[in-house]
Parts: sequence; structure tokens; C-alpha cells
Amino acid sequence: MVTTQDFKSRMHIDWCPGCGNFGILNALKRALTQLDIGPDGAVVVSGIGCSAKLPHFINLNGFHTLHGRALPAATGIKLAVDDLPVIAVTGDGDGLGIGGTHFIHTARRNVDIVHILHNNAVYGLTTGQAAPTTQRGMTTKTTPRGVVEEPIQPVPLALVSGATFVARTYVGDMEHCVETFKQAITHKGYALVDTLQPCVTFNKVYTYDFYNERVYHLRDVGHDPTDMKQAMLRGYEWGDRIPLGVFYQEEARPTLGDELPGLEKGPLCKRDISDVDISHLVRPMM
Ligand code: SF4
Repeated sequence: MVTTQDFKSRMHIDWCPGCGNFGILNALKRALTQLDIGPDGAVVVSGIGCSAKLPHFINLNGFHTLHGRALPAATGIKLAVDDLPVIAVTGDGDGLGIGGTHFIHTARRNVDIVHILHNNAVYGLTTGQAAPTTQRGMTTKTTPRGVVEEPIQPVPLALVSGATFVARTYVGDMEHCVETFKQAITHKGYALVDTLQPCVTFNKVYTYDFYNERVYHLRDVGHDPTDMKQAMLRGYEWGDRIPLGVFYQEEARPTLGDELPGLEKGPLCKRDISDVDISHLVRPMM
């Protein structure tokens, strides 16, 4: 039987005390445990940033890639090894700034992966610059007179890009976080979880108190996650009230792996390639 202790890493966790990343790490361990998925049963892929250290802090197959590139790497892994859940973790700068175009195309291709967006609305690892989700007016090292741009809204962006599972959770509500991660892992298709995680060191606006006073659950207001119009309206809601839960879910759409002609004979890792001659590719490099 899998326990959360199975995921304990030997690495020292160097996130700041109180950082919301701890909640994401713990929720992911609990979600995998409750789904009976052990350390060999899934892959976690990251880009660059505080969030990107997560594969080091969990005993799970992991790949720490380049800034903004977690989603294409996760796509490649999923197409090659189709029976492992693939979980991409990105920050908001990593996933929506440098990797913003990958976000759109991974959603429209319906790649069968989970995307946990560590959304703290600031660049934390580089010590507090404005990120794509930083609130208008907030002063940061790069915006000493306040941000003058509108923030990206990841939920509506995922919806219009064609994501088949779009949810938001908050690390201050651990049970909700675990349940949402479990739903995302068991969904077939691209699953975005916009995960609100305070950066206690560099974002003094989006704090635990800020969220605790505002979050509410979509399940408590009769939201229908099959209704795209409702999902869009709720997805734009941000301010005095912030919705948590599954905005939208669509089960029937084929994934990228279902439709790629090159994968008709199955994923690469299960194909017999012993008679494939690649010497003409290797020879020029010798
Ligand atoms: Fe967490 Fe912010 Fe510290 Fe990074 S800088 S570890 S996001 S609190």
C-alpha cells in the first residue's frame, strides 16, 4: 500500500518558511497516495522557478527542464510513455510568460497531462519582479511605480484555448487541493489546476488573509461544469469573491496521443524497434 512517506525526498527543502509551495507538495503527495500511485507510477516535470524545485523534493520520477519548457517536455514524455500520469508544475511567470505559448497549444492539443500552475503572481526565485498574473498597481522591483498592465487570467485563457479540464484550488484549503489534484490526475486530457499559493516573501498583496476572506466553492453555488458559458463568467470573477473548484470539464474529446498517426501502433516505449536501421542518422555524427 502506498503511503505519503514513500514520496519523502532526501533533498533539503529550501523554500521560505510559510511558502504556499509546501501546500502544493503535500497535496500532491496525498493525492497520489489516495489514488494508490507510487513513486514509480507517475512523472513530474518542471520548468524554472521556485515551483520548479518540486521534482527534487518528492521521491517520484522527475525531470527539471528549462524555463517555460515544462509543457513541451511533459508532452513528449506522455506520447512516449502513455500509461504514466504526467504532471507538469510551472510557476505563473514560467507557465504564462516564458512558456505562455506552450500553455495555449498544450490546451488546444488536449495533451493528456496535468498542469499544476503554482500561481503566486510574482517572480519569487529571482527575488520579486512583476509576473504575468501580478495585480495591476502592485509595486515590485521591476515596477517601482506600480504595474500598469492587466494581469493574465489563466482560467479563461485555458477555456478559450480548448482545455478539457479547468479548475482552481488554494493551498489554504488542503482538502480541496487534494481532491482537485485527484480529479485532474484521473481526467483524460489536458487538465489545468490554477493553484493559488502565497509567496510570503515577495507578494504582500495576495496573502493567506487576502484569499481566506474571498475564496468560495463553485459547488456551493450550483455551478454546472459542463456549461462553457457559466465557466467563462465564473472564470473572470476575481476580486471581492474568488471561485474555487472545477469550472469546466469535457470528457469525450480525443487527446493528442489518441489521434497522432505516428502512434497508431502504440507509444514508442512499447514498440519493437530492434530492426530499425538508424546508422544513416548516426554516421554523420561520428
Ligand atoms: Fe516561496 Fe516566494 Fe520564497 Fe519562492 S520566494 S520559496 S515562492 S515564498
